[in-house]
Amino acid sequence: MSSDSISSNSVLHTLYDVIVIGAGASGLMCSATAGYQGKRVLVIDHAPKAAAKIRISGGGKCNFTNLDVSSNNFICQNPHFVKSALSRYPSSAFIELVERHGLDYEQRDLGKLFCAERASDLIQILRTECDWAGVEVTVKCTVEQVDYNNQQYQLQTTQGDLTASKLVIATGALSFPKLKASGYGYQIAKQFGLNIIPTSPGLVPLVFDGKWQERIASLSGLALDVKVSCETHSFEEAILFTHNGLSGPGILQVSNYWQVGKPIQIDLLPGLVVVEELQRLKKSGDSLVKWLNQFWPKRFTQTWLEVFPMENQLSNITDEVLLDYADKIQNWVLHPSDTAGYDKAEVTLGGVDTNEVSSKTFEAKKQPGLYFIGEVLDVTGHLGGYNFQWAWASGVACGLAV
Ligand SMILES: Cc1cc2nc3c(=O)[nH]c(=O)nc-3n(C[C@H](O)[C@H](O)[C@H](O)COP(=O)(O)OP(=O)(O)OC[C@H]3O[C@@H](n4cnc5c(N)ncnc54)[C@H](O)[C@@H]3O)c2cc1C
Repeated sequence: MSSDSISSNSVLHTLYDVIVIGAGASGLMCSATAGYQGKRVLVIDHAPKAAAKIRISGGGKCNFTNLDVSSNNFICQNPHFVKSALSRYPSSAFIELVERHGLDYEQRDLGKLFCAERASDLIQILRTECDWAGVEVTVKCTVEQVDYNNQQYQLQTTQGDLTASKLVIATGALSFPKLKASGYGYQIAKQFGLNIIPTSPGLVPLVFDGKWQERIASLSGLALDVKVSCETHSFEEAILFTHNGLSGPGILQVSNYWQVGKPIQIDLLPGLVVVEELQRLKKSGDSLVKWLNQFWPKRFTQTWLEVFPMENQLSNITDEVLLDYADKIQNWVLHPSDTAGYDKAEVTLGGVDTNEVSSKTFEAKKQPGLYFIGEVLDVTGHLGGYNFQWAWASGVACGLAV
């Protein structure tokens, strides 16, 4: 399969059944689906190439869905909102689509599916689907104004005036502005009187200040398999030490639940009852450092013991102190100072209030013919292919309804 970019512009006609703003994951899926329903569809994007986030996602291999998807994998003020679209277009439907196009893919831990070669193979599939469905795709097109008159949406754009009876907003959200992410979808929502749930960066590294910043930076490059928690939400996945904070899947997951001022807790030896292990060491007289080095890189053990001094020989240590040692190892409390912001965030929490939109059609309840799909909505998936699955499922549901 050849790599591809949807960068060529087609001739714009002025009158469409459906105009989709945003040629990303949800917009392309919605456009193809609507095109197959016989609708005359135009999808426009202000970026020079469509689907930029697919191209760079999953380290260039796009974690495009997950074998195990449920509403529990999503954060939304209305937890039931995602159920209808996800059940009507489950991950098996998207897998069937990519298999039909001959995509090579691989399964990784926790049911995550990635392209075997490159994410652009997936863009090529979406492009082919749009071609087959007769969809026009136009990039480098900026919308300057949207008006609603006589049940028609009139768009003034840098490529001329356009009209459609249905307008789909698939502009994504604020994360990764260097890929032309924008808050335009929120602007349209506000124009038509829809409520916005306040936004913040999600699936994002956490940063530290003061002594902890220095300590963490000194461990830059190390990864540990841990359980990381924020309040009642826990994820058993790797964390990564970086020059300005903590990253890695475990931290990205927990960042969705973290707010300034809250602590995070890290169990550095998940799956072990550390106090029992320490009691065993106390009896045998074996070295604590040697034991810790079985699980941790030596550099981490050394720094850890500088911060939390512990006796190497536990023979004369009281049970009370052993409990304290175990607690420090299994309940390491850290106070991040902030997130690394939208520049480094994979997603945006918050967005268009789902109470404003039908969960079946994605049409705005108070504005006929206006639809919102994908990440612009107040729907955020966990790490693991859930955000793309939401883009596919909401895109298909809307494409069938417009
Ligand atoms: C680095 C990174 C890695 C990621 N990896 C994964 C992963 O592996 N798995 C996963 O499930 N999710 C991943 N995500 C999240 C995923 O990319 C998004 O959730 C998903 O792309 C959202 O789809 P969408 O269609 O709503 O928006 P997008 O795919 O972002 O598409 C929005 C489109 O709208 C266009 N647009 C924006 N504003 C305007 C405007 N004013 N006018 C015209 N066009 C506009 C943009 O140019 C863009 O093409 C990752 C995100 C990032 C940043």
